[in-house]
Amino acid sequence: MKMFFKKTGTMQALAVLLLIGGTCLFCGCSRQTQRIQMVDTAMGTIVSQTLYIEGRTIREQQDIVQEILFCIHDLEQQRLSWRLSGSEIYEINANAGEENGIGLSPKLSEHLNACLRVSEASQGAFDITIGDVVRLWDIDTWAGKEETKGFVIPSESEINAALEKTGYQKISLQDNRIILPKPLQLDMGAVGKGIALDEIKQILEEYEEITGAVVSVGGSILTYGTKSDGSLWNVGIVNPSETSENIGVLKLEGGWCVSTSGDYERFVEKDGVRYHHILNPETGYPAESGVRSVTIVTQNGLLSDALSTACFILGEEEGLALAEEFEAEALFVLEDGRISMTEGMQQFFELTVE
Ligand code: AMP
Ligand code: MG
Repeated sequence: MKMFFKKTGTMQALAVLLLIGGTCLFCGCSRQTQRIQMVDTAMGTIVSQTLYIEGRTIREQQDIVQEILFCIHDLEQQRLSWRLSGSEIYEINANAGEENGIGLSPKLSEHLNACLRVSEASQGAFDITIGDVVRLWDIDTWAGKEETKGFVIPSESEINAALEKTGYQKISLQDNRIILPKPLQLDMGAVGKGIALDEIKQILEEYEEITGAVVSVGGSILTYGTKSDGSLWNVGIVNPSETSENIGVLKLEGGWCVSTSGDYERFVEKDGVRYHHILNPETGYPAESGVRSVTIVTQNGLLSDALSTACFILGEEEGLALAEEFEAEALFVLEDGRISMTEGMQQFFELTVE
């Protein structure tokens, strides 16, 4: 998923900002409202912020942008990363097998409960205990690299051994305490960016001078408030077969979280086969469900992110049913070229006409 920009100077400005990273751009929209834009990286992905702010000095505006960026770094470092020692997930994984488990922050406890609800509703298609299988494939290391000779497709026996170490049903979660049996390992890769949106929304709400914003963290995008010209926010749906193009656009008011999971986002190609990063916990292989991408629209970031991953694995029919169960809107771009969506999504979606 990426933002859809009309062909104005904005796109060029963003391209420049992408190169220099972490730089802010200020554009006067009116005397009262400033539009500030920033592109940087956090959580291993691109973070782009466009904020409409009234009556603050440039310094104060920059501080807000930095606060948002810091909150994403903090979320990764303190709570969600399985790589960084000191994060809660790292500690849970390190303490797998502890009879009495370990204590959790109320926030992480809430995230894990929500994840388990999606696991149950998707009958295990979504499973945060997939950590060992994710590490076995190691797609993130190879995705986007020109030289992939060193990429090795795991053997059947390695996959089966890694699958033995999964199973969300084996987690015990109660009163802000988790018991993770050995050798299970948690991976929050499917929900981290969505959780970031929920945290960012809370920051935006603290500043009544922020009248509108659109913030994207990788494949997840938050719309907030209104634009100064009153028009709707545009969120592009990438064409999986031609990722520099959009197949359509979602026209949204503020208050929505949009997450996309696609086989074009992170993948390695070997001998003409594409191995992507969304794994089917039943087979241990990248999901093959006839889907190229799924976009979910809800008011909760964690849910939009979890459901986009789950629906990708389930495929069109079961995925649409799952989205409806959570009162979320879903749009599927399918391998056969069709676009399929929930009824409620139709009010947002406009097809790009070539
Ligand atoms: P997303 O791009 O939001 O669909 O998330 C994909 C990421 O979630 C992967 O890079 C893995 O870290 C993790 N993941 C892969 N397959 C699953 C799954 N079946 N359930 C939960 N997380 C998964
Ligand atoms: Mg996801």
